[in-house]
Amino acid sequence: MLTLAPRASKPQSPDLLAWYDRHRRSLPWRAEAGEVPDPYRVWLSEIMLQQTTVTAVKPFYLRFLERFPTVAALAEAPVDAVMQAWAGLGYYSRARNLHACAKAVVDKHAGAFPATEAELLALPGIGAYTAAAVAAIAFHEPAAAVDGNVERVVSRLFTVEEPLPKAKPLLRTLTLEMVPLDRPGDFAQALMDLGATICTPKRPACALCPWMAPCEARAQGSQELYPKKQKKLTGDLRRGAAFVVLRADDSILLRTRPTQGLLGGMVETPTSAWEPGYEPSRAMLDAPIEARWQRLPGLVRHVFTHFPLELTVFLAKVPRGTPEPGDMRWTLRRDLHEEALPGVMKKVLAHALGDGKPVRNGAAKPKPDQI
Ligand code: SF4
Repeated sequence: MLTLAPRASKPQSPDLLAWYDRHRRSLPWRAEAGEVPDPYRVWLSEIMLQQTTVTAVKPFYLRFLERFPTVAALAEAPVDAVMQAWAGLGYYSRARNLHACAKAVVDKHAGAFPATEAELLALPGIGAYTAAAVAAIAFHEPAAAVDGNVERVVSRLFTVEEPLPKAKPLLRTLTLEMVPLDRPGDFAQALMDLGATICTPKRPACALCPWMAPCEARAQGSQELYPKKQKKLTGDLRRGAAFVVLRADDSILLRTRPTQGLLGGMVETPTSAWEPGYEPSRAMLDAPIEARWQRLPGLVRHVFTHFPLELTVFLAKVPRGTPEPGDMRWTLRRDLHEEALPGVMKKVLAHALGDGKPVRNGAAKPKPDQI
């Protein structure tokens, strides 16, 4: 049975809210004090912020909102346009779900987001955290929005010894017990801000924390030991080959990946399978067309959520009029920016065409991307 360490006093929501009123972050999707929050903007930002930093999301959010200013505009847009606007944010299944959710809001809820956590949870792509965050922030429902930041804060406040992910239900209960009925939305946002700016993973600024007095981890000097985590198993390195075909009219051979699965619905140059035992010396068996292939020096490295990938890149230049194989198409190089190319494929094209900094063997640390 779980036991919690004894503490002098409980963390009080008014202390956190008083701190929030003075130090709240100004964010493009956040209503200013006294303004009515727009559920569409709250929802959109929460989906974008899943696994992505505020700094990375800000420019994406503003461009996306300009292109799809309302949930109706998003629902009406072709899914390809949504995927293209999302390219670069990672976790591409979120973009498909975003579109499906907008359609559901328009079709089943007459274009207005439902106001309760339970109804929100029933929409595509809305999980427990997002449902609670939107319900609390946009509709003032006393819901506990618990993401990684909040888990860190609460596990430290109460020195929760149970490791994540098993501790999730307990952390949620502890959070819910603190949610004030009068300002649930501000409380949710205050906790987010506290986790992002004060109760950081390393060297939390406890001296500035409104909950310094009741925080058990701070009293013990053990802040960085929380939250406890179960050891993660990382996936094996996978290898593969990517084939860049440049036709004399300056077009590139592309194809669209299947909707389901890794990078579903995104666009790529033809590639082999990605497998731990893939042998690049046999890559010609996977080449999409017959041509004079040139194996380029170096590798393209990319890190997905579940595995790292190394691609050997092959380049072929073919004459004008070369037809495309069945499920592929030619896209002019100048139009590549309109394609929903994931980060790994941008690296491949940069490596082959010299349009950017190629990621050569050992030259750059790969940036994690998600599926
Ligand atoms: S006192 Fe320190 S460890 Fe505790 S909640 Fe505040 S910032 Fe986090």
